[in-house]
Amino acid sequence: MFAPQFGYHRASSVAEAGELLRSNPGAKLLAGGHSLIPVLKLRLAAPPALIDIGRLAELRGIAVDGGSLRLGALTTHAELAASPELQRHAPALAQAASVIGDPAVRNRGTIGGNVAHADPASDLPTVLVALGAAFEIAGAGGERTVPAAEFFQGMMATALGDGDLLTAVVLPARPPGQGQAYVKFAHPASRYAVIGVAAALTVSDGACTAAAVAVGGLVPVPLRAPSVEGALAGGPVAADALAAAADRVAADLGDDLIGDVFASAEYRRAVAAVWVRRALEAAAQAA
Ligand SMILES: Cc1cc2nc3c(=O)[nH]c(=O)nc-3n(C[C@H](O)[C@H](O)[C@H](O)COP(=O)(O)OP(=O)(O)OC[C@H]3O[C@@H](n4cnc5c(N)ncnc54)[C@H](O)[C@@H]3O)c2cc1C
Repeated sequence: MFAPQFGYHRASSVAEAGELLRSNPGAKLLAGGHSLIPVLKLRLAAPPALIDIGRLAELRGIAVDGGSLRLGALTTHAELAASPELQRHAPALAQAASVIGDPAVRNRGTIGGNVAHADPASDLPTVLVALGAAFEIAGAGGERTVPAAEFFQGMMATALGDGDLLTAVVLPARPPGQGQAYVKFAHPASRYAVIGVAAALTVSDGACTAAAVAVGGLVPVPLRAPSVEGALAGGPVAADALAAAADRVAADLGDDLIGDVFASAEYRRAVAAVWVRRALEAAAQAA
């Protein structure tokens, strides 16, 4: 299927991209194109114009600054997966990027496009919610930073408004003693997450002193699992304790579970705890 006709503008700077967005109402930003082009071809959207930001070097790269990481919005999944800085300071994010789609998707798809598209089956949003990331946004009113927990607002809906451009993702570097992991039940064809779980456990003397757990693919937004986190805090990281904590995820899911032809809502609810347990075991092992 062919995309509907659209105008095309290539921005040479973030500032120019902003001007182009304002002078072309309804226009869409084009980054790696691996979500937007399929959307156009399926005629799910028909923007009058695309603003191509794909060559803006100022939006690329990974920087470590003291205790935090700053990831340019155009950093590709392959660059995230291969980054020694990310493997060291945010290994769950590098793991998640390494299991996205296939090499073609990872070489073109960007972290900015991935989170802006906000597909509940995406991998990176789940990790970014677990790790307490924030999103730097340039808009008509200036720049602002939105925490991940407020950024994802519904199925394919985010805090980005008309004229907004996501410039970077910032997240804290892994503190000493913290183990991180991302595991997913991948759709066998697309590799999208049917269920994805990110866990970060800080362990001291065999006890969990802090826990952050998020699940994706289950409800329309990536979700923190406070019942699981609460069951872990202060307790041992032995296998039976991790399994008992994982079982608590049912209490965090609510009634809005996603179901589709591949995996029903009932199935997702039934196996969610299995994937949470696997993530907890891997994070505890890494701690
Ligand atoms: C076959 C296939 C398999 C895939 N498998 C997976 C998978 O397993 N896991 C997974 O997570 N993803 C998967 N994806 C999606 C992939 O990760 C996409 O690359 C990604 O979701 C979108 O990034 P992009 O750079 O291609 O964005 P684009 O397609 O260019 O843009 C996507 C949306 O984000 C907006 N946008 C882009 N950049 C910005 C920005 N800086 N600021 C504001 N808005 C912006 C665009 O306007 C558009 O609405 C798959 C895609 C394909 C085609």
